[in-house]
Amino acid sequence: MPTASVAKKSYRAPQRVTNRVGRRAPELIFGDLWAFDPAPESADPKLKARYDLFINGKFVAPKGGKYFDSINPANERKLAEIALAGLADVDAAYAAAQRAADGVWGKMPGRERAKYLYRIARLLQDRAREFAVAETLDGGKPIKESRDFDVPMAAAHFFYHAGWADKLEYVAPGRRVAPLGVVGQVIPWNFPLLMCAWKLAPALAMGNTVVLKPAETTSITALKLAEIFQDAGLPPGVVNFVTGAGDVGAAMMKHPTPAKIAFTGSTEVGKIIMRSLAGSDKKMTMELGGKAANIIFDDAPLDQAVEGIVNGIFFNQGHVCCAGSRLLVQEGIAEKVLAKLKTRIRTLRVGDPLDKNTDIGAINSREQLTKIRALVAAGVKEGCAIFQPECALPPSGFYFRPTIFSGVSMSSRVAREEIFGPVLSILTFRTVDEAIEKANNTAYGLSAGVWTDKGSRILKLSTELKAGVVWANTYNKFDPASPFGGYKESGFGREGGRQGLLDYCKLI
Ligand code: NAP
Ligand code: MG
Repeated sequence: MPTASVAKKSYRAPQRVTNRVGRRAPELIFGDLWAFDPAPESADPKLKARYDLFINGKFVAPKGGKYFDSINPANERKLAEIALAGLADVDAAYAAAQRAADGVWGKMPGRERAKYLYRIARLLQDRAREFAVAETLDGGKPIKESRDFDVPMAAAHFFYHAGWADKLEYVAPGRRVAPLGVVGQVIPWNFPLLMCAWKLAPALAMGNTVVLKPAETTSITALKLAEIFQDAGLPPGVVNFVTGAGDVGAAMMKHPTPAKIAFTGSTEVGKIIMRSLAGSDKKMTMELGGKAANIIFDDAPLDQAVEGIVNGIFFNQGHVCCAGSRLLVQEGIAEKVLAKLKTRIRTLRVGDPLDKNTDIGAINSREQLTKIRALVAAGVKEGCAIFQPECALPPSGFYFRPTIFSGVSMSSRVAREEIFGPVLSILTFRTVDEAIEKANNTAYGLSAGVWTDKGSRILKLSTELKAGVVWANTYNKFDPASPFGGYKESGFGREGGRQGLLDYCKLI
C-alpha cells in the first residue's frame, strides 16, 4: 500500500548527456523520470518477540537459556530474539529426529507423506505475503523478490516433491530405494526460506527426518515454517530447527546420528566440514560458492542480454551463489555493452527493501558489507576502471551501490574471488575458445550464461563450460524439476529433480 503522504513529484524530461566535446552521448538519464513515491508492502509479518528452538514438534527454550538478536539490515533495528542452541539441544534435536525416523516417518507409505508435503505447500501459499515480508525484514532482499521468487519457489519445491513421494520407485528404475534415516542440514542467509524448502522437501519425500540450522542472521522464516509444520500436523521430530552460529553448525555436522550431511554455504566452510568428516561413512552433498561467467557474443540480442546480465548480478544484491559476477564480452561490442550497462544501472533503485519499487535492497549484514567494500577497494587498487551510479543511500542500514568494473584482467581479485555483492567485473575475449578458456579458468563451477544467436555455439558452450547450470539467452531461471549443483570447488550433489532425490536415498 502506498503511504498516506502525497509528495509532490517534480517531473523532468529525460536529459541528453553531452560529452566533453559537446557531442551527444547515447545515454539518457532516467532517474528523475522514474522517481516514484514510496510504496511499501503492508502485510503483517506476524513476528514473535522471541523465537525458541523447534524440537520434537514444539518450540522449546534452549537449555543454556541464551538468545541472540536478529536485526533488520535495512535499518539495523532489532526484529526478534533467537534461541542460541548448545550441544545438549543439538543432541535433543537428533534424538527426536531418530525417533521420528524409526517410529513414524520412515515407515509411512509415500502417498501419506505426500499429503503432508502438499499441505505444507498450500499453507505456505496461504501465508505467502506474510512470509515475504518477514523474509525481506530479516534478510534485506527487495520485497518484489521475496514475494515473486523466494516464497512461490519454496512452495513449488514442496508441491513438486509431494508429487514424487508416492512414485519413488521411478527415482532409480529397476532398484528399490530406502530412506537414509536422519539428515543434518546447514543453510546460508541468501535464500533463507527457499534453501529450507530445497533441503527439506526432497529429504522428507524420501522418508528421512531432519535437523536443520538456518544462518545466524536469517533464522526467522525457518521458525515461521515450523509454525506451518505444526498447523499441517507434521509428526513431531520429522523436522527440527536448531539456531545459532557456526559452532552449532559444526556440532551438527560432526554429530554421530545423521546418516547424511547436506550443506549450502561458502567453499571455505564446506572444506572445514569435509575435513571434519573425513573417514566417516556419512553421505554428503555440498552446495558451495561460485564465480559465474556470463558470456556475450557479438551476434547476441544486446538489449535482452543487458537485461539478463543486470538481473544475473544485481538480483538480490548479488547475494546469489550463481550470480553472473563475471561478464565476458566479445571485444568488438565491449564498449557498446558497457555503455548500455551503465545506462541501465543508473535506473536501478537502491533502498528500502520493503518498497515494491526497490531493485537493490540491503546487504545482509555489516560483516558482508565490509567484505564487499574490501574487495571493491582491491579492484580499484589493481587498476580496474570503476563505475557506480550516483544515488542516495538510506542513512542507516547496510547498502552498496551497483558497481561495474571494466578493464579487468584474469589475475585480478575481482575476477577470481566471490564478492557476493552487486559488483560486476567485465573482461573481454576474441574467439569462442578464448571465452571457454577464460570462463573455465576459475576454482568454481556453479553456473554460466551464454548470449548468442547461434544454436550450435550454445550447444558447444553448454558442453564445454564446466558449470552445473548453463543458461542460454536467459539467466537465473529455476524450476524444482531441474537439478542444481556444482563442479569443482562449487561442490557436489544435486538439488531438485530426480537427481536431487537420489542424494537422499540408499539403493537396495
Ligand atoms: P557460510 O559462512 O559458509 O555459512 C553457511 C552456513 O554454515 C551458516 O548457517 C553458518 O552459520 C554455518 N557455518 C559457519 N561455520 C560453520 C562450520 N564450521 N561448520 C558448520 N556450519 C558452519 O556461508 P554464508 O556466508 O552464510 O553464505 C554465502 C555462501 O553460500 C556463498 O559462498 C554462496 O556462494 C554459498 N551458497 C551456495 C549455494 C549453492 O547452491 N551452491 C546457494 C546459496 C549460497 P552462521 O550463519 O552462524 O555463520
Ligand atoms: Mg536479520
